[in-house]
Amino acid sequence: MKIGFIGLGNMGRHMARHVLEGGHDLTVFDLSREAGRPLEEAGATWANSPAEAARGAEIVFTSLPVPANVLEVATGEGGVLSAISPGAVLVDLSTIDPDTAVTLDAATRAAGAHALDSPVSGGTVGADRGDLCLMVGGDHEIFERVAPVLNLIGAAEKLVYCGGIGTGSICKLANNLLGLSTSVMISEAFGMAMKAGVDARTLYNVISASSGDSAALRGWGTSILNGNFEPGFMVDLAAKDVGLATQLGRSLGLPMEAANLAQQRFIEAQRRGWGKDAMQAVGRIQEERSGIEFRFPESESESSD
Ligand code: NAD
Repeated sequence: MKIGFIGLGNMGRHMARHVLEGGHDLTVFDLSREAGRPLEEAGATWANSPAEAARGAEIVFTSLPVPANVLEVATGEGGVLSAISPGAVLVDLSTIDPDTAVTLDAATRAAGAHALDSPVSGGTVGADRGDLCLMVGGDHEIFERVAPVLNLIGAAEKLVYCGGIGTGSICKLANNLLGLSTSVMISEAFGMAMKAGVDARTLYNVISASSGDSAALRGWGTSILNGNFEPGFMVDLAAKDVGLATQLGRSLGLPMEAANLAQQRFIEAQRRGWGKDAMQAVGRIQEERSGIEFRFPESESESSD
C-alpha cells in the first residue's frame, strides 16, 4: 500500500520504520528535515508538506505532540485533508482529547475520507519493538480495513477496538492518568521508605512482588532507579496527558481530586524548566524534598522496559 507518515519523533520514527519494513511504499514528513533521514536511507520518500505525504496514500498516519498540532497538520494550509484521496484513512496515533478526535473526524468526512483515533501505549521501547498497545476509535469496518497495518506497529493481541470515534482517546487518557499519577505516588513511597532507612533494591524487590506493583514501577520506576534519564517521554507530553484527563473530567462535571493533585506535580516540573526532559524528572521533586536520590546500589544495573 502507499502510506503517508507525519511526525517522526521519539515514537513516530519507530512506528514509521515498522510500516516500511512491512513492505509498504512509505512517504514521510516532519517539521525537522533531519528526522526523516534514517527513514529515507531505509527506503522511504521524503515529502515537503503534510499534503505531499498524503497525496495518493491509502492510509495517512500522524504522531504529533498535542491536539493543536494534529488539527493543524490535518486541516491547515498544505495539510493532509487538502490532498487526501477519496476513501483513504487518516489514523492519528497521537494522544489527544476525544473532542479533537470528533472534530478531526468531521473534517475528514467532509474531505471524502475516514478518520480513526488510535493512540498508543508502550513507550519508545514498545515502539521500537513493534509491540505497542493500540486503542482505536472510529467505524469498525474502517478499523478492520487498516488492522493489518496497525499490527505492524503494535502487537496483534494488544490491538483493541474501543468503539466510535474518540473512544480510543478516552481510553488512552484514562490509562495515562493512572500510569502517570502512579509515578507520583511511587516517588512519594520511595522517598518515605528510603529516608526511613530502606535501600532502593530492597524496596523494589518487595513492591514488585506485592500489591503495590505496577507497570509504572517496572517502566518509569526502574528508569529512575537505574539513573536512566534518556529522553523518551517528555515531561511536557506527560503534563499534557494528565491535563487532558482532568479537563475531560471537568467537562463531565466530575470531581477527580487525586488526578488534579497529581497534575500539580507535572506543572511544577514544567515550572522548573524540565519540560523537555524525560518524564523521570518528575521524581526529582520528591528526591529533593527527601534529600535522597532514588537509585539502586551502584553495584547493580537492570534494564528498564
Ligand atoms: P516527539 O516530540 O518526540 O515527536 C513529535 C514529532 O512531531 C517531532 O519530530 C516534531 O518535529 C514533529 N512535529 C511537531 N509539529 C509538527 C507539524 N506541525 N508538522 C510535522 N511534524 C511536526 O513526541 P513523541 O514522544 O514521539 O510523541 C508523539 C505523540 O505520541 C504524542 O501525542 C505523545 O503524547 C504520544 N505518546 C508518546 C509516548 C512516548 O513514550 N514518547 C508514548 C505514547 C504516546
